[in-house]
Amino acid sequence: MATRKVRNYINGQWVESGSSRVVDVVNPATDEVLAQLLLTTKEETEGVIEAAQDAFWEWRSTPPLQRARLLMKLKYLMDEHHDEIARVLTQEHGKTFKEAWTELERAIENVEVATGVTSMMMGDVLEDVARGIDEYAIRQPLGVCASINPFNFPGMIPFWSLPYALAAGNTAIVKSSSRVPMTMEKIFELIDKVGFPKGVVNLIGGSHDVSDALLDSSLVKAISFVGSTKVGQYVYNRSAQTNKRAQVQTSANNFGIVMSDAVFDKVVPNIVASAFDCTGQRCLALATILAVGDAYSEVKKMVVAAAKKLRVGYGLDEGVDIGPVITKKAKANIEGWIEKGIKEGAKLILDGRGMKVEGYPNGYWLGPSIFDECTRDMEVANEEIFGPVLCIIAVKDLDEGLDIINANRYGNAATIYTQNGACAREFKYRARSGNLGINIGVAAPMAFFHFAGCKDSFFGVLHVQGRDAFQFFTDAAVVVERWY
Ligand code: NAD
Repeated sequence: MATRKVRNYINGQWVESGSSRVVDVVNPATDEVLAQLLLTTKEETEGVIEAAQDAFWEWRSTPPLQRARLLMKLKYLMDEHHDEIARVLTQEHGKTFKEAWTELERAIENVEVATGVTSMMMGDVLEDVARGIDEYAIRQPLGVCASINPFNFPGMIPFWSLPYALAAGNTAIVKSSSRVPMTMEKIFELIDKVGFPKGVVNLIGGSHDVSDALLDSSLVKAISFVGSTKVGQYVYNRSAQTNKRAQVQTSANNFGIVMSDAVFDKVVPNIVASAFDCTGQRCLALATILAVGDAYSEVKKMVVAAAKKLRVGYGLDEGVDIGPVITKKAKANIEGWIEKGIKEGAKLILDGRGMKVEGYPNGYWLGPSIFDECTRDMEVANEEIFGPVLCIIAVKDLDEGLDIINANRYGNAATIYTQNGACAREFKYRARSGNLGINIGVAAPMAFFHFAGCKDSFFGVLHVQGRDAFQFFTDAAVVVERWY
């Protein structure tokens, strides 16, 4: 039987790409091919951009409250089909059903926040800026907006931008990650039921050809990219060549300072979940612990003991804590990092390699790994591994911890575990990182706050989610008015 092809959704129609290039979509727990993705071509992408452009003026003049009502309908459909989408997500991505479900909760939350468009897009007016002259600032949509998405949150990350772009009156094109295109295909089955006008919202699957066609088109006015720093830099630079605005959220290596006054029995489960949930494949994952003074030996002992208890397995099975990594290649890459850490002189005190899961001989399994005796100059403790690997560095005080955080090239997230308010204040005041946690290892902002990031973790000015997203997806025009 022929393998099912993942479909594109273009101009209100489901269509199969005519591309001759194809990639398999694989269940990482079983190594089975679930479907195939035809890699949408440059010409096909240009056709989608035209359809989105044609739909723009009608959508732009649709009253914001009507646009919001369509998003509300989508929210209720997503609620109704929450479990179903989460199952697809787990199958193609590998994360546990609970993780998939929670991820989708944040997607829905972003739709909810975007329905606040009527107040979020409202402008400002001042009468009599000069005698008889009034002036007002209004926010206007941009046109066609596109998002290029990573593999690690296939159901959530497109929603960091999509609902805001639509609510603000733009038309949208979503490019899903070629490794996990089925989740958004499933969600677009719901989008199809909502009744958006044709061409307003489109989905295409593909690789860099699609990205390049989106980046090079002068009709595309805004790009929301989430992915690696290497690709993000390229996307940011290429966007500038056609004068488009870009919000580019990229790689990370997140540190957690553990002070000796931290409440260890509460903090350790949080550290372990922050490091190993989602199999470490998240941009907010805790990657390196900076254990201050006396905290070091106790925290190390407790973290290793707790990590050993995590159950690795298929995300649709009961009682599983962490799933497989996304591809065989990713697994080899993470194993390469473990070897590198050993060569650099770090001490591997928990080795997750060679993990076997009963009933799933072909899964891409890796258990939690922990490196002790890391130093601040080791790459393994400073670069993004994007897998279930945690490094520990012993530091003498808060200053040394902050120094390591601030010297790192990335600035996505940082955390402090302490009971001391003054110490926590010092941390949040001085840490050069976007998403800061206090006794919270994964400081993931709710949808009504922007998802921050700085240094090599973010390029642009306005971030995804919340108020930033509304500003990103609108131009601020000023009208100065006089009547005789
Ligand atoms: P990736 O950079 O490989 O791919 C991201 C997207 O870019 C995909 O849609 C891919 O098809 C496309 N792409 C890949 N190569 C391209 C090229 N040469 N030209 C144009 N487009 C290209 O990232 P990934 O492996 O899918 O995702 C993991 C990365 O994403 C990690 O580095 C992670 O930290 C980062 N991430 C960051 C955030 C954040 O908010 N900062 C959130 C999630 C993930």
